[in-house]
Amino acid sequence: MRPDETLYLMYHELETPGQPLCQSEPGYVRYVLTERSFREQMDWLQREGIRGVSVSQSLTENSPRGIVITFDDGCGSDLRVAAPLLTKAGFGATFYITLAFLDQPGYLLPRQVRDLANAGFDIGCHSLTHAYLDDLDEVGLRREIADAKTQLEEIIGRPVSHFSCPGGRWSPQVARIAEQAGYRSVATSRIASNRIGSNSFQLARVAVIRNTSLPAFQDLCHGKNLWKLQFRDFIRATSRHVLGNTLYDRVRHVALENSVKSKTPTR
Ligand SMILES: [Zn+2]
Repeated sequence: MRPDETLYLMYHELETPGQPLCQSEPGYVRYVLTERSFREQMDWLQREGIRGVSVSQSLTENSPRGIVITFDDGCGSDLRVAAPLLTKAGFGATFYITLAFLDQPGYLLPRQVRDLANAGFDIGCHSLTHAYLDDLDEVGLRREIADAKTQLEEIIGRPVSHFSCPGGRWSPQVARIAEQAGYRSVATSRIASNRIGSNSFQLARVAVIRNTSLPAFQDLCHGKNLWKLQFRDFIRATSRHVLGNTLYDRVRHVALENSVKSKTPTR
């Protein structure tokens, strides 16, 4: 990684033994890491002398060797699993919350979002209902981006400055409305590192997923092999563009179901 580059990592739910996941579809579970994998990754960052920081810290401090740690959706494991490990490592992080998920089984309660904020973590917004933003008109976008910000600020009692796009669906309108609503950044799922001076309303992020091995994670944090992930993402984005969001989700669901079935041993 060049000294003027920062890598934004994107996490979702963390799995602990005996604890049911928020959702069970293969397309969801693909993004769920075990607590153990996450702990190994944080331990390794610490050993390497790489500091995990929040989006706010990264945008204000521009710490060159920092890795930005973000979580999407607002799962209960943010507070139960991630927060204690991050605190132990002395790392900051940004937790992006989807308002409609609060109080749902497995997700955070409003007071737990407050607990995360009070523990010093950065709270960002991940929309009102997790709708794909590229399917919405101006009114819908304002509801998902601006109204959600106001509601989240009422819950935590402090300003919410960062937004992340559900499903990574970014557009120039999303950036414009977020800026008008008073956000300072918008995070996407575009795979790249961010340079000092990168457009903060289109921040690239790399998903750490279930099958990301520790060596692959280490390569990622050193800025290696990003092109491989970019290539796979290009194929995915192209098929989504050709198929549209709804059909793309259906095709992806069937493909993942089949890959799970083919890996299940038959007796
Ligand atoms: Zn999400």
